[in-house]
Amino acid sequence: MALIVQKFGGTSVGSTEKIKNVAKRVLRYQQQGHQMVVVLSAMSGQTDKLLGFAADMQRLPDLRETDMLLATGEQITIALLAMAIKEAGSDAVSLLGDQVRIITDAMHTKARIREIETELIKKHLDAGRVVVVAGFQGVTTEGDLTTLGRGGSDTTAVALAAALKADSCEIYTDVEGVYTTDPNICAEARKIDMITYDEMLELASLGAKVLEIRSVGLAKRYKVPLHVRSTFSENEGTWVVEEDRLMESMLVSGITYSRKEARITIRNVPDQPGVASKIFLPISNAGVLVDMIIQNTREGQMTDITFTVLRADYLRTMEILKETVKDIGAESVNGDESIAKVSIVGVGMRNHSGIATTMFQVMAHEGINIMMISTSEIKVSCIIAEKYTELAVRTLHTAFALDKSKQPVEE
Ligand code: ADP
Ligand code: ASP
Ligand code: MG
Repeated sequence: MALIVQKFGGTSVGSTEKIKNVAKRVLRYQQQGHQMVVVLSAMSGQTDKLLGFAADMQRLPDLRETDMLLATGEQITIALLAMAIKEAGSDAVSLLGDQVRIITDAMHTKARIREIETELIKKHLDAGRVVVVAGFQGVTTEGDLTTLGRGGSDTTAVALAAALKADSCEIYTDVEGVYTTDPNICAEARKIDMITYDEMLELASLGAKVLEIRSVGLAKRYKVPLHVRSTFSENEGTWVVEEDRLMESMLVSGITYSRKEARITIRNVPDQPGVASKIFLPISNAGVLVDMIIQNTREGQMTDITFTVLRADYLRTMEILKETVKDIGAESVNGDESIAKVSIVGVGMRNHSGIATTMFQVMAHEGINIMMISTSEIKVSCIIAEKYTELAVRTLHTAFALDKSKQPVEE
């Protein structure tokens, strides 16, 4: 008998019919003798709909009240699944984050889990019930409801699997697993059978939303093997595992893209000590995260500084910089919201040279201008014009032979 945590995403619970199908799958596992904890998202589109209501009420919606509102989405699906399971003749109980006591900090709309009490869940499991837990939400020690950030149900599932020392954690979604790139924009994308936590962390942080990045970090830390698979088939999906379980490392394991960033350039900045901190301190004080930064040296005593921020923070950042530009005596600030970040990721890149060059050649051949570049041991990212996103992803996918099942492997 195993203890299994299963998480079903928004499209998997998008209608009452789909929830009935989830009930069937869960019960099949239970009938095999397993103890089942099920984590659900809200129905697809529901969280966005609720955010739309909030925006109608307040120009900048209050974050505590936003969490009160968003937490209702998952309450609907968990209650419905518990009913479906009971209708099928078994027993189930639905629990909200505050009933389980998923304790978080008070950073409303992006709270982090501090601890999870497991007593109540274990009591229900021992009584033979399927325990259905609301994903994406928790509660502060003060009793305020919180949410964990978009896509946060993945994090709830992995955190529960770690706290309960579950035997496995299955993430059910609308694709067959983790692919070499987003299968919804590249028909040649291939399902990956096994991937390391580190590669998955890079893929997630660079835009592959199939797993929320914090869930991958938690899985790595607590050694929770993840199985990402489809709600709509019985096929094996993708296993996310530790590196030593992989016999061969792919040179490049995936291509990602993100359209969530914007680029900002400050021109003719006096090239003096302290200028970078004068630019970036007010930005970070406003809670804005800066991703890539490039400083160009120019003739004389002047330099240009270019960097990227999330598009959601773009206007706020430009406001702040208008003041900064005057303050430091720079010439101007301008920006571009229609950019995309396209990246190649793979642990095999550590010991190989020339991979970045191949990426640049591919872009050049397609006439795609690279505006910024950033590299790490296991990834290369380029900022390009947004309109070339699909073209770049597809040509890189082919250039690195990701559409072929036999790929170059690390020696
Ligand atoms: P859920 O609602 O089940 O959490 P998400 O929409 O959050 O599902 O994540 C699944 C989606 O992630 C897929 O439909 C796919 O378009 C997208 N995606 C992006 N990159 C990848 C990738 N490398 N592999 C698989 N899916 C990806
Ligand atoms: N319902 C939340 C969202 O849409 C959490 C999740 O689906 O994981 O972001
Ligand atoms: Mg998701």
